[in-house]
Amino acid sequence: MSNPQGSQTHHSNYVGRFAPSPSGPLHFGSLVAALGSYFQTKSQQGQWLVRIEDLDPPREMPGAAKMILETLDAHGLVWDQTVVYQSQRHALYQEQIETWLRSERAYYCQCTRKQIKQGGGFYLGTCRNKALTDGAQCSVRLKVDDPIAFFDDEKHGRIEIPAQLAQEDFIIKRRDGLFAYNLAVVLDDIDQGVTQVVRGADLIEPTGRQINLYRYLEQPEVSYIHLPLALDQHGNKLSKQNHAPAVDNKRPKHTIMQAMRFLGFTLPDDFESASVEQMLHWGVKNWHLDLLPNSLSRHSAF
Ligand code: GLU
Repeated sequence: MSNPQGSQTHHSNYVGRFAPSPSGPLHFGSLVAALGSYFQTKSQQGQWLVRIEDLDPPREMPGAAKMILETLDAHGLVWDQTVVYQSQRHALYQEQIETWLRSERAYYCQCTRKQIKQGGGFYLGTCRNKALTDGAQCSVRLKVDDPIAFFDDEKHGRIEIPAQLAQEDFIIKRRDGLFAYNLAVVLDDIDQGVTQVVRGADLIEPTGRQINLYRYLEQPEVSYIHLPLALDQHGNKLSKQNHAPAVDNKRPKHTIMQAMRFLGFTLPDDFESASVEQMLHWGVKNWHLDLLPNSLSRHSAF
């Protein structure tokens, strides 16, 4: 355990990121996502970016963004560029939506969530050919002409996407005026030069939609690695909604060791005597996708 982290030089084009939504402080599951993307990025000598996805103010907790950054800091997870906030980037999202409305790749939709639910839960293209021109009280949907039937995850291999989900003209701007996660995440990843997305398996479902956006934007696609989701003792996903406890910034080594075991590492006996920086350095050096469990979820208690 004698390797200090030292200063890192970047000799690759790899760019990875951690993109938390500030709906609350980081819990164990989100720290696992941060560590997994950090290890993967640094093992490729890449740059590791942090982006705060503050797109949905009603679901956010005041002060959470700051708490998240403090937790990353307390766990030695140093990001390489200025933190980006999605709330500062509405112009970029709006501009793309207008371009797609003009080219008829996107359209206004009047349907309410309730109507769609009553129709079976999937949107069946009701407004696709209505050519609505007044966007008031409307969402904006992307016209999906080439559904993505599957994608290849770098860890889990081929992942099929259910046809109804793949075919759906999905929302890129909501009726309430908020920008949709799928649109913002793809525009930002492109803008920031992200080459690979490493994130929790709860985000497998929207991946096909995101790949679709890359195609319509005519941008090179990124590759994906989905990390196992952390479950609590009842088998529920750790989440802010389930009131998963916040990571304790005063015991970073304890949490890092727990998260590393969760990610599949077998730690050396003397690991506890290492510093946070040494732990991360060892993790970067020994990280390998084969270590990662094959399952898409895992109990978090070790
Ligand atoms: N902001 C998303 C979340 O916290 C993650 C986005 C992503 O990694 O693609 O669930």
